[in-house]
Amino acid sequence: MIYLDHAAATPVNKKALEAMRPYFDEDFFNPSAAYLPAKKVAHEYEEAKGVIAHAIGAKANDLVITAGATEANNLAFSAVLDGRVLYLATEHDSVRKVAEQYSGEAIEVDKNGRIDLNDLKAKITDDVILISVALANNELGTIQPLSEIASLIREVRLNRLSRGVKRPLYLHSDASQAMNLLNVNVARLGVDLLTLNSAKVYGPKGVGALYVSHDVKLKPASYGGGQEQGLRSGTENVPGVIGFAKAVEEATKHLNGNRKKYAELKKILLSELKDYELVNKKHSLDNFIVLCYNGIDAERLIFLLEDKGVYVSTGAACAANKGAKSHVLAAIGLSDSEINGSLRLTLGETNDEEQIHEAARLINEAVTLEKSRG
Ligand code: PLP
Repeated sequence: MIYLDHAAATPVNKKALEAMRPYFDEDFFNPSAAYLPAKKVAHEYEEAKGVIAHAIGAKANDLVITAGATEANNLAFSAVLDGRVLYLATEHDSVRKVAEQYSGEAIEVDKNGRIDLNDLKAKITDDVILISVALANNELGTIQPLSEIASLIREVRLNRLSRGVKRPLYLHSDASQAMNLLNVNVARLGVDLLTLNSAKVYGPKGVGALYVSHDVKLKPASYGGGQEQGLRSGTENVPGVIGFAKAVEEATKHLNGNRKKYAELKKILLSELKDYELVNKKHSLDNFIVLCYNGIDAERLIFLLEDKGVYVSTGAACAANKGAKSHVLAAIGLSDSEINGSLRLTLGETNDEEQIHEAARLINEAVTLEKSRG
């Protein structure tokens, strides 16, 4: 198998899996229980949260653990009591769909998928309370200039203050795809809310976190025992968080090595592939390769490649599964036929050079076959 879909899912890191194991049986205790072994588990859970928080320059208490990035993104929007939200046109559906509940308006992107700062400026009216821009896009890998956006937001806040406008303005970012390759630091990015996703950093699925800065007030995602600072009641997913923390620790240790490895593999792949147009030419994470074979049906390429043991996708796994046209590729100006012919390859830890040569050969073969069918 040559797996080239690491943006959809990553296998759990062996060290993370080992770290999780004891918490399923020997250390199964409910962290809220009063006896000593449970208190030890509660302590280890908090320590694990501390590790995740440390990786983004925050403290354990700044994080609300969730059941993945979808829930974290949804929770972030609960900061909106009144007013409107803005979100980038290329956001994941877990942002777009929740933004629709808050009279969301999309901010345009350029042909590389980068935010149009002029459009953002024009749309930040006094009723806007939250702006959501993913650090790295999940279909193109486009990295957004978050700190530039944050400084623009600071200016708007000062301007509002000077005019006596009381409505706050928050910046939320979904960093699900970024943590394997980028150094993510909340202060440097200037975000008030940040979504993390264990499943994309070689941690277990169904675990995520929302970083919440001190001045942001959220509505609880669930009411009950008061866990997660009262924002998400329910017995803690101890093994999940322990695994997430170990995965984050490993990811942050290997950031530079990963970037170098993926850049090299990407170079090899692009030099050996034929007759394609590269879609994500600029500002993209090194492990994202989006190819356009205009006039060819990429869905058919996916099936042909699957037969040869190569797993790729046309875009976000959930959208691809529903046969929906990619809103991301449409937002960067691709025509319907270009969108139909687009393949997303995302590199990861399971890949090596030998696989990449083989993948290039098999993709070329599949494209030639599809072309000959007319
Ligand atoms: N945000 C981004 C950028 C993603 O890539 C994904 C997963 O594909 C999600 C959110 C949703 O994550 P989950 O399905 O783990 O809730």
